[in-house]
Amino acid sequence: MKVLKFGGTSVGSAERMKGVVKLISDGETKIVVLSAMSGTTNSLIEFTNYLKNQNAIGACEHSTFLQDKYKHTIKELYSTEEYAQKATAKVSEVFNHLRNLAQQPLTENLEKEIIAQGEIMSTNMVTLYMQELGLDAVLLNSFDFMRLSSNGEPDLGYIREHLLPLVDLDAKGRIYIAQGFVCLNYLGNIDNLQRGGSDYTATLIGAAVNASEVQIWTDIDGMHNNDPRIVDNTSPVHHLHFEESAELAYFGAKILHPTCILPAKLTGTPVRLLNTMDPSAQGTLIDNNLTQPGEIKAIAAKDGITAVKIKSGRMLLAYGFLRKVFEVFETYKTSIDMICTSEVGVSVSIDDDRKLEQIVDELQKYGTVTVDRDMCIICVVGDLNWEHVGFEARAMEAMKDIPVRMVSYGGSNYNISFLVREEDKERALRSLSNTIFNAKK
Ligand code: ASP
Ligand code: MG
Repeated sequence: MKVLKFGGTSVGSAERMKGVVKLISDGETKIVVLSAMSGTTNSLIEFTNYLKNQNAIGACEHSTFLQDKYKHTIKELYSTEEYAQKATAKVSEVFNHLRNLAQQPLTENLEKEIIAQGEIMSTNMVTLYMQELGLDAVLLNSFDFMRLSSNGEPDLGYIREHLLPLVDLDAKGRIYIAQGFVCLNYLGNIDNLQRGGSDYTATLIGAAVNASEVQIWTDIDGMHNNDPRIVDNTSPVHHLHFEESAELAYFGAKILHPTCILPAKLTGTPVRLLNTMDPSAQGTLIDNNLTQPGEIKAIAAKDGITAVKIKSGRMLLAYGFLRKVFEVFETYKTSIDMICTSEVGVSVSIDDDRKLEQIVDELQKYGTVTVDRDMCIICVVGDLNWEHVGFEARAMEAMKDIPVRMVSYGGSNYNISFLVREEDKERALRSLSNTIFNAKK
């Protein structure tokens, strides 16, 4: 059985919902995870912002705009009065509930209950629409099985135990619809899997039911070459190892967050990224297989990087020096991406430079600090196991005419990163692409 997830834009209008239903009604039993209609989660967050500002009237007024959008969608979606009424009743129930919640003092629990309402509406609407068409659609209530344990992480054992009795894997052609994103915490209060969490719902369900495949449908062609950050030999990347996809996630490729991939990786469930706008395209398969050992899959780049170097004779043979340096970045909540060290210095890269001045100030206690701005990380992703030979040489050869500020390899078996000037990015990408991909042909 397959698990399919459709994001907010894919269910963003009556027309898009119809498109999704057409796509999923192929006679195969499946579980379909839906996000809230696009814009809804943000709108519900805005609703809670009014409440934070003690403006319940503003919140309620704001909710009527959102409700209008739902009324409009219902009008377009259903062709019978009966189902339009059923959907209207459900949506009204949600909005009345929201307006009731607005009268209560805002707590963290209440806030989470509010932002869970989007997925409740989208799943009810799609299920009713399918039933109107005479399809065997069954709504699953994700609160019945999606649970976090006391450490705040999804409890796969609990999920499996509580989901399996709810689904009949042999029911021919039945389509289960479940809310993405929402869950209960270990105390039984409404919680969620963080923004964008519907992908995570899908991989968790996939792991729980031992799915043959988890499909993540977006309306953007994720790993395609038209994404300017990714270049390869001008064809889309059709296959990635879980580790390779984790490496690429940083580069903003429309790809799964490594956390969302984890359940699939652990259970070996293949994940396929597909495009709602081009449903027959093969998409990108992510699994635990390395199709071709030593193969380089993609080159990705990220601009707007700042390099910070701290050089100090005190670092030689000292311990605790790096901790002090890293602590400065931690204090200013700035995450470090690349790191290179020598015996007497360390260079790191950051992409958030809002606290750079303070960081530099503090680092000057430990050594001489140099900053290089407008840099770009270029990362080569593939099976780069250190025991293989030749790929470092090829990558370095490609960079022979380009000033390289940092090189990092060995953090994982799947990535070599170069830090170059933004202005040299195009040249570097082209040269790497020629050396790495065209050389194979
Ligand atoms: N609706 C939630 C969000 O907008 C979850 C999701 O779309 O995956 O973040
Ligand atoms: Mg989303």
